[in-house]
Amino acid sequence: MSAVFDRSRERVAAATRHMPGGVSSHFRYGVSPTPLVFERADGVYLHDIDGNRLIDYYLALGPMILGHTPPDVIAAARAQLDRGILYGGQSELEFEAARLVCEMVPCAERVRFCASGTEADQLALRLSRAVTGRDVIVKFEGHYHGWMDSVLWSTAPTGNAMGPESGPTPVGGSAGQDSLAGRNTEVLSWNRPEQVIDRLARGDVAAVLMEAAMCNSGAIMPLPGYLEAVREACTKHGTILIFDEVITGFRVGPGGAQKRLGVTPDLAVFAKAIANGFAVAAVAGRADIMDQLAGGNIIHGGTYNAQAVNMAATVATLQRLATPGIYERMESRGQRLMQGLAKAFADAGVTATVTGFPQIFHVGLGLEAPAVNYRDMIRVDRAGYVRLTTLLLKHGVRALERGAWFLSTEHDEAIVDATIAAMRAALAEWT
Ligand code: PLP
Repeated sequence: MSAVFDRSRERVAAATRHMPGGVSSHFRYGVSPTPLVFERADGVYLHDIDGNRLIDYYLALGPMILGHTPPDVIAAARAQLDRGILYGGQSELEFEAARLVCEMVPCAERVRFCASGTEADQLALRLSRAVTGRDVIVKFEGHYHGWMDSVLWSTAPTGNAMGPESGPTPVGGSAGQDSLAGRNTEVLSWNRPEQVIDRLARGDVAAVLMEAAMCNSGAIMPLPGYLEAVREACTKHGTILIFDEVITGFRVGPGGAQKRLGVTPDLAVFAKAIANGFAVAAVAGRADIMDQLAGGNIIHGGTYNAQAVNMAATVATLQRLATPGIYERMESRGQRLMQGLAKAFADAGVTATVTGFPQIFHVGLGLEAPAVNYRDMIRVDRAGYVRLTTLLLKHGVRALERGAWFLSTEHDEAIVDATIAAMRAALAEWT
């Protein structure tokens, strides 16, 4: 197979007459060979307007954990459409969705729904500031928490502006960002327990916000004892520990990274896999913190929060994800894929790491050893990997240029093996 993408290229170019860049998100712009235009999806496949059928490992950047067309989720959403779309009031669906989250996630004693991960992060930060009476937030280099002005700092910094690893300088992530919005946002290097311990000792930090496993720059595991040390320091100094589980939540296991890694935060943020593509996010956490949202003076609104069709999809998604064996099957197929890709690189004589969870892993082209934090990720051969993913597309596999691979329940052994074969073919052309 050698797919071409000419119609996508033409249609995106034509769409620039009405849409900036012909896309609806910064992260869909500038991808190689062109932003693609799709006409449908099913199971693990995306079908583009050039007639290509692509095995999908973008999974829309994570949400499609049950694949593109899970019959149970679609049936639930379809049935709800006939009963109303948006009530502007409560429904049994959201009560059930919240109950399921509380049953599955260790930190979840209460849940508040939102419509995107960015908003849910904003809510978790506001809540933390309100309950602690403090302003400062600590985040980490390479961790992404949405595109808000206050957290879009040092998500992908480069060059001297970053400062030393022992004390990074916050680097704004976007032109047009309110430079003052970062005055209470401090950036540390992740996986360095001493940095958190030292900083929290000053007693003025409202919250530590992190991806419990760093999935936006690589898929980097916390070093043994790191999360435990951060947990202990937060407890000691009255700082709220927030895990941003927008990627890991309901993906690496029914209880997210916190269950899998055995450390419970005070608050956690969910989105993506919680509703298999429907626009749902949530903040979950300790009852004494979350209940401050009940009628007090902490404002959290959102016209589309707990929209009924989305909630029907959430319930159906969570019910399926609570099915015994579902994660174990993904786990073994993901391992097969990780091992197969690692072997393909080794056989081709190409240096690369394949690290992370089987349901969300990362290929670090040019890395000799697994990364420990963002500073290691800077050494990845990005240009080489873009060339490789472009070749992979021609062989029918769509994987993210930044190295992440998302797996769904629908990626079975045959699909995994076809993917490994495609990688071998791409590598043969690449080297
Ligand atoms: N937090 C993390 C860890 C994410 O990966 C993302 C998006 O990729 C967000 C927050 C923002 O979520 P959303 O794009 O739904 O606003």
